Amino acid sequence: MFPFRVVSVTPKLPASICRLKELAYDFWFSWKPEAIELFRTVKPDLWREAGHNPARFLIKVSSEDLERVARDDDYLAMYRRVFELYDRYKSEETWFAEHYPEHKEDVVAYFSAEFGLHESHPIYSGGLGLLAGDHCKSASDLGLPFVGVGLLYKHGYFTQKINAEGRQEAVYPHLNFIELPITPVYDAKGGHLTVKLELPGRDIFILVWKVKVGRIWIYLLDADTPKNTGDDRRLTGTLYGGDHQYRIAQEILLGVGGVKALYEMGVLPRVWHINEGHAAFLILQRIRELVAKGLTFNTAREVVRASTIFTTHTPVPAGHDVFSKETIENFFAPAAKDMGVELETLLELAWDREREGFNMTLLALNNSCLCNGVSRLHGKVSRKMFLGHYDGLHPEEIPITAITNGVHLETWLAKELRDLYFRYLGKECVEKVGPEIWEKVENIPDEELWRVHRFLKVQMIDFARSSLKRQRMRNYELSKRIHEVDEYLSPDVLTIGFARRFATYKRAALLFRDPGRLKQLINHPERPVRFVFAGKAHPADMAGQDLIKRIYDLSNEADFRGKVLLLEDYDIHMARHLLQGVDVWMNTPRRPMEASGTSGQKAALNGLINISTLDGWWPEAYDGNNGFAVGTECNYLNEETQDQEDCHSLFVTLEEKLIPMYYRREAGLPREWVRMMKHSIKTIVPVFNTHRMVAEYTNKFYIPAAHRGNDFRNNNYEQGERVSRLKQLLREHWDQVKFVRIETNGAPKMYTGQKLEVKVDIDLGQLDHGSVAVELVCGNAVDYGLKRIKRVVLDHIEEIGSGVHRFSGSLVLPQGGLGYTVRVRPASPDFPYTELPLVKWAPGF
Ligand SMILES: *Cc1c(COP(=O)(O)O)cnc(C)c1O
Repeated sequence: MFPFRVVSVTPKLPASICRLKELAYDFWFSWKPEAIELFRTVKPDLWREAGHNPARFLIKVSSEDLERVARDDDYLAMYRRVFELYDRYKSEETWFAEHYPEHKEDVVAYFSAEFGLHESHPIYSGGLGLLAGDHCKSASDLGLPFVGVGLLYKHGYFTQKINAEGRQEAVYPHLNFIELPITPVYDAKGGHLTVKLELPGRDIFILVWKVKVGRIWIYLLDADTPKNTGDDRRLTGTLYGGDHQYRIAQEILLGVGGVKALYEMGVLPRVWHINEGHAAFLILQRIRELVAKGLTFNTAREVVRASTIFTTHTPVPAGHDVFSKETIENFFAPAAKDMGVELETLLELAWDREREGFNMTLLALNNSCLCNGVSRLHGKVSRKMFLGHYDGLHPEEIPITAITNGVHLETWLAKELRDLYFRYLGKECVEKVGPEIWEKVENIPDEELWRVHRFLKVQMIDFARSSLKRQRMRNYELSKRIHEVDEYLSPDVLTIGFARRFATYKRAALLFRDPGRLKQLINHPERPVRFVFAGKAHPADMAGQDLIKRIYDLSNEADFRGKVLLLEDYDIHMARHLLQGVDVWMNTPRRPMEASGTSGQKAALNGLINISTLDGWWPEAYDGNNGFAVGTECNYLNEETQDQEDCHSLFVTLEEKLIPMYYRREAGLPREWVRMMKHSIKTIVPVFNTHRMVAEYTNKFYIPAAHRGNDFRNNNYEQGERVSRLKQLLREHWDQVKFVRIETNGAPKMYTGQKLEVKVDIDLGQLDHGSVAVELVCGNAVDYGLKRIKRVVLDHIEEIGSGVHRFSGSLVLPQGGLGYTVRVRPASPDFPYTELPLVKWAPGF
């Protein structure tokens, strides 16, 4: 090909509305209905045609249309209102500035393989991306010093078509970057900033772009430049495509390329947040850069760890990438050399003994100072899942805590409902999200809430019908089949939505295990029910695609036709319609596979009622009156039994509780139902939102990690070096540590309030007694283990012989069937012992 220069030719914006372009390039618009209205009003058809993408819209709109609105007083008034909001947003005092003024320079870098900000920018596949997008929006709202780092996929995630046979067809759109609301980052010479990386046998160049999200930036990396070979240009082609070689190269681009790009731009993050294992290679790159500055590998590793935090997102094994030794060698041999270590040392950072490979999740867990799962249940499941990698720790001590996911309220809240909330709760309800404000939902008259819900339901029905019609026309279906869509769904009929990725553990077809019972439910003469399904299956997931076909086929059977609908191409736009307009949101994951799930939180925000298995976030939220629970909180050994019981429970809950409640009317109004809507809103919204979530990350993770990182870096990395030396010493000498004698007044029977005393002699060899802690551990004896453990650190009494030390202490026993023992572990004011899980439990005594 011959070289050429790129130019985008757009109509010149009339002076009175010249700031539209600024707005088009700031995703702030995506959570302000007024801002969207400002574009849409200019030319509604074109807005739809442009895929709700303001940048593309401004490229396509005609000068005449712009000049027309620029003369329209109503439009100009609207324009002024939006920019007043916008300017105020950018200048007002923020939560972060108020709470952490001394940390305003401590930038948090948030690395994620996907970001779901808006339907016009499809670089997300599902929940992980949506969460990252909402996280960024709240980080902006709360005023955090924050940057995102991700990849700019040329083809995004696929667009789904369902053909006349019910088969999913994946269509990859070609994103024209000129038409996206993104801008190049320029280098000092005014060229597009390009970062160079080494891959085996060649260099690869990546372009850096930026996306504005209110007060923050997200930097996106793009390999599609003529400087790269054809195959390398495709490395940022699609999300989660390709084989292992492709995946690792993509993850190197994100992790290694991301670090390089930030440094090139002069961004020096103080906290590094790895959002899911894909980005964990940033750890290796940072170690490499510190070694280049003269630190030893071990010290560099401690310094990196002190400022790195990690969020794990799934208990599904396929969600954790594992690369073979050969693959790592192929890509990282030069890096190991630069770091001055053998390849083995690199492999040890993340070696997975079970799966015999280099595990990205372990790389992150082993080299972060704080780690979390995304709901309380998921935290617990993760602790259990990774127990084997923390030799010696009790399951309750595994250092993976939980910060439960939320949603960005303004993004997901229907405008009509928002206005109602504003009227009765005040505008601050979406900003300061405490429970006191949301208590005022009770002040909304039942009739008004129901009327707005019904209005949104009618909109959802319109949306569903036109989506289905479009699909049928494209598939050349008979005109009868196309026209009958206008009769589908009704605002008077209970409508249940189910839309999510078609991963098998989500069990979209749970109800269809008993088609006879479902037929009766749907076709009940007085209390009919309608179902709307939607969702994509990963192109490599055949089981998921079969599920789509199964539901498609059933939806065409006589008893289900027009009553069970399957819509194609679930995305943010469709999610918004469904989550604002159906009555009930159904969620049926096989416990405990759903890490959190967030769509049900969006549903609750819009007054929908959740019916869900007790998985992910739901056990935390469900209080018996704010929705419906399916199944129990017990763990099953057998999936078939679990599916059978959950299916039965789902039917019973629908038949006996949910459906009757919905149809019970007083003067045409389902009072009891509306009461539940309000209760659901006020108990769920103030907790399950990203403002609470990002504040929690800030308080518990970002600020402590910023302090720790600074401590480790100060005085020329003095503390980093000290910790690295101490850990090395403990590792080398731990074998010598031995229990010599344990004395206790403990007896098989003791009385409430009695004191348990222990005296322990331990041979510490060459170790200093200050670098260990000896503990009395006590807990409820359950089966063969201890639960709810308590730990008391024993006092050091004296050295009684060469290297042998005496410790003693006591504990007042609580009531119950208890077990106790003693143990010794590393102790240091500079790092938590869980980072070096060398624990020696006393042999039987
Ligand atoms: C919110 C959302 C998700 C994630 O929600 P789940 O409950 O995990 O399904 C996925 N896709 C879209 C489009 C969403 O809006």
